[in-house]
Amino acid sequence: MKFEPSLSFARKLDRQDPLRSFRSKFLFPKMNNRTAIYFTGNSLGLQPKATKKIVDEELSDWAKLGVEGHLHSRRPWLYYHKFSKKLLAKIVGAKPGEVVAMNQLTVNLHLMMASFYRPTEKRYKIITEAGAFSSDQYAVESQIKFHGLNPAHTLIELSPRPGEYTLHTEDILKSITENKNETALVMLGGVQYYTGQFFDIRKITQAAHRAGAMVGFDLAHAAGNVSLHLHKDEVDFAVWCGYKYLNSGPGGLAGVFVHEKYAADNTLARLAGWWGHTEKERFQMKKGFRPMPGADGWQLSNFPILSGAAQLASLKIFEEVGMPALRKKSLNLTGYLEYLLKSIPHFENHFSIITPSNPQARGCQLSLLMKKNGKKIFDRLTQAGVIADWREPGVIRVAPVPLYNTFEEVFMFAEIFKNAIR
Ligand SMILES: *Cc1c(COP(=O)(O)O)cnc(C)c1O
Repeated sequence: MKFEPSLSFARKLDRQDPLRSFRSKFLFPKMNNRTAIYFTGNSLGLQPKATKKIVDEELSDWAKLGVEGHLHSRRPWLYYHKFSKKLLAKIVGAKPGEVVAMNQLTVNLHLMMASFYRPTEKRYKIITEAGAFSSDQYAVESQIKFHGLNPAHTLIELSPRPGEYTLHTEDILKSITENKNETALVMLGGVQYYTGQFFDIRKITQAAHRAGAMVGFDLAHAAGNVSLHLHKDEVDFAVWCGYKYLNSGPGGLAGVFVHEKYAADNTLARLAGWWGHTEKERFQMKKGFRPMPGADGWQLSNFPILSGAAQLASLKIFEEVGMPALRKKSLNLTGYLEYLLKSIPHFENHFSIITPSNPQARGCQLSLLMKKNGKKIFDRLTQAGVIADWREPGVIRVAPVPLYNTFEEVFMFAEIFKNAIR
């Protein structure tokens, strides 16, 4: 698309935007009595207006029915994990049986690694990205130690080439090939939280499988942001959280993907709980765990209804929009932001955009590495009504979310940013 640096052009794009009506389904925080420019949906997605109603309905069913609500509420609690299956499957490119909403992200990462990281004397290494989100680092290191191994000899952390900020796909593939006899697991983010780089899930998965390794992705910044095809790409497992692009509320419900090829594989080691047990005999409380087929068999506990209700409100919006339309708008929205930022005279003296410039290698987020006065500039943005995100030592992350942000907001942000760096 050919962009123009003017408010009237931005407004024209908004008028032509087929998704423009979805903004009105969300609640926006205010700053200085004005609607904030909220570019932090990558950290905590906004609240859909429908959330309150659906959570209230569950509270009211609980009040009226007590324990009977498990079977007799309008959305019987006993089956609640089934209500979001199809919706989640579409978002991550899976079959409904391959996904389930459960727990929190880091918990799920551990559960998945319990099954898919099974080091042997010969095959024990994990390939991951250097500078992964801290929780992922801790999860991976503690899993390694849990197996009695030393992270220093077990963990391969991929770093960008000198002077660069993101990884070349060929370098990832090369490391997998070089370590092909010892690698047990390749574990990466889908979209890197700091740089916004969207990894080539398909190529990485193929390389890992050629090497005889398992492969898993942390989709915290990818689910609801970019187009995913986990089933077709034959990813072994994936995890995500619900509160970022999926707008499920603070601490919201997370989820997992386990590829269909493991649906009936009862030889995989796993940590078990009653909610993963064969549904028909779950309440017989019998000895001997027999997992449900598919991702459901990794559930531990009974379903958190209030979090699940909040998630449903948002997933129904995703169902209406569809990921293809969302991604299409996202490419233009973030493309416009990049265009405006790069139109700032001598912008290179003030910041560089470390997110890949190839739109296929990023989601909606741009990470701006500030060359001087980064924190001061960030504070000026805040004063001017922008909610963005500051990451030490000097990155401002901005994420125009196609579900509820506008081209006009992108234009206004660029104006505010231009003034702030002066
Ligand atoms: C947000 C995020 C987390 C947070 O983990 P929780 O278990 O949800 O607290 C972990 N990893 C990545 C990559 C994230 O982006």
